[in-house]
Amino acid sequence: MRKRVLVTGGAGFIGSHLCERLLSEGNEVICLDNYFSGNKQNIVHLLANPYFELVRHDVTVPYYAEVDEIYNLACPASPIYYQQNPIKTIKTSVMGAINMLGLAKRVKAKILQASTSEVYGDPEIHPQPEHYWGNVNPIGPRACYDEGKRCAETLFVNYHMQNGVKIKIARIFNTYGPRMSLSDGRVISNFTVQALTNQNITIYGDGSQTRSFMYIDDLVDALIMLMNTPDNVTGPINIGNPEEYTIIDLAKKIVALTESKSEIVYKTATVDDPKQRKPDMEVARKILPKWTPKVNIDDGLTKTIEYFKQQL
Ligand code: NAD
Ligand code: UDP
Ligand code: UDP
Repeated sequence: MRKRVLVTGGAGFIGSHLCERLLSEGNEVICLDNYFSGNKQNIVHLLANPYFELVRHDVTVPYYAEVDEIYNLACPASPIYYQQNPIKTIKTSVMGAINMLGLAKRVKAKILQASTSEVYGDPEIHPQPEHYWGNVNPIGPRACYDEGKRCAETLFVNYHMQNGVKIKIARIFNTYGPRMSLSDGRVISNFTVQALTNQNITIYGDGSQTRSFMYIDDLVDALIMLMNTPDNVTGPINIGNPEEYTIIDLAKKIVALTESKSEIVYKTATVDDPKQRKPDMEVARKILPKWTPKVNIDDGLTKTIEYFKQQL
């Protein structure tokens, strides 16, 4: 049976890969986006498919459609985008969640929230398990994103308990791959563009902070598997690749893979930058026993570098 699936934020980096996969599996896809940080270029190749529908719409405004499943991805994800208009970022997370949950409730659709490892803030527990409540500064520059996503999780859990809405909460860790915006300021896109153009590689702080990077295909596999879990599985569940790197090691890796002449330079650290991040995978192993991140960082970066070369 062909399902009708709504993907909010479908013209973004993750959303475009998800739309592509859902279509290839024989579903009908409605891609909803206001192009704040996404790009039509990401989904233009899908427009010829009669089962693909593109809707220019802002999730903070109610939206009506008859769908079976909703993936709620709409929200800028990179610090420079989400800090550009912090109030709008909060509205997108919170009002977007309310509207999509209202829709899910009305049509009895299953709904998955793209939450984030950022709900753990600057974590004092390492690696981060789902039962850790996090360490977020509610008035810092990252709060519009972190607290918006935390409130969205609260809304999901309460629509589930109060209204019986079928929910799935995925706490996604840093993801990279083709179709990341060249200018979105995230570490892999910045370093790759800098390396390919022989500009200085800009490390914020001393580079000892860590992140765990997951390739896009592994994330898409996990999101679809999570949506297909039984209704009593709600999450939150960490979705990430537990291989952890310091930012300085990442910089060196990208310089080596691109055979770049770029030099590494150190800039002021950003405010409230989490010092370490790595998913505890125990819950994921239990809920998604068939899933494990397959793409190692060298292979993933090589594919990403190829994409950036074409774009430049
Ligand atoms: P992205 O910026 O490429 O995609 C987000 C999309 O949402 C864009 O196409 C944007 O135009 C759209 N959007 C933003 N505000 C909107 C609004 N008000 N109405 C409709 N559309 C709107 O970012 P991404 O990396 O693809 O992230 C997708 C989702 O995954 C986000 O919710 C993000 O918080 C979450 N996430 C991403 C990562 C990551 O590492 N990329 C990690 C954790 C969570
Ligand atoms: N909503 C929507 N699409 C729908 C159903 C609801 O966008 O198909 C919006 C609706 O406008 C409301 C929100 O979702 O603002 C929350 O809906 P809910 O039914 O929970 O709340 P209520 O309508 O009672 O305020
Ligand atoms: N970072 C960096 N140089 C850059 C961009 C980012 O050193 O040009 C650092 C940033 O300070 C953070 C890490 O890389 O410690 C990951 O940053 P990103 O914005 O990609 O993701 P997030 O902080 O949201 O995990």
